[in-house]
Amino acid sequence: MSKTKVLALWRDEKMNDDEARILRTPCAEIPAPFGPDSRRDIELLLEAFLEREDALGLAAPQIGVSRRVIAFRNRNFDKKGRVNNAEDCDVLINPRITQARGEPVKGLEGCLSCPDLQMEIDRFPDIKVRALDRDGRKINRRYNDFLARIVQHEMDHLDGKLIVDYEGAAYVPEKNKNFFDRLFKKE
Ligand SMILES: [Zn+2]
Repeated sequence: MSKTKVLALWRDEKMNDDEARILRTPCAEIPAPFGPDSRRDIELLLEAFLEREDALGLAAPQIGVSRRVIAFRNRNFDKKGRVNNAEDCDVLINPRITQARGEPVKGLEGCLSCPDLQMEIDRFPDIKVRALDRDGRKINRRYNDFLARIVQHEMDHLDGKLIVDYEGAAYVPEKNKNFFDRLFKKE
């Protein structure tokens, strides 16, 4: 079975304007109670996330669905391979940060939609998030440290924001250095 395609701003040193347009589009909220189309969008994202071995999280716009849904691993971060049960993963619909605490902490982030790039980004180490769960129930969750970083990263996608938009230091493979030099100069 082929995996769901994850959209990327560039691939093999070529910019993908069509995919970028979708990744850059702010996503729409999903009204509750969820109708069949909304349920399908939520399941599509969860399935796309569960079939990947190389993602800690995934946001709906990355699979071309402009809706406010994110899925991410919520424990066992150092375990290899894909998440194989739904308990190891959180799905948040229409997430909103209601409280962010602590001094922002620097950390390196990569993104399937920004291949070969790692950026140093400041994130809050302690956030509270209000969202709906997969059944459309209101939930409030608190996330700390690495998990708080993942949630903030995935939530950025819902507003069309990607790691390449941050100011921090960029780390790229030597062989792609020219490509990234041009990319960052242009922006
Ligand atoms: Zn990402």
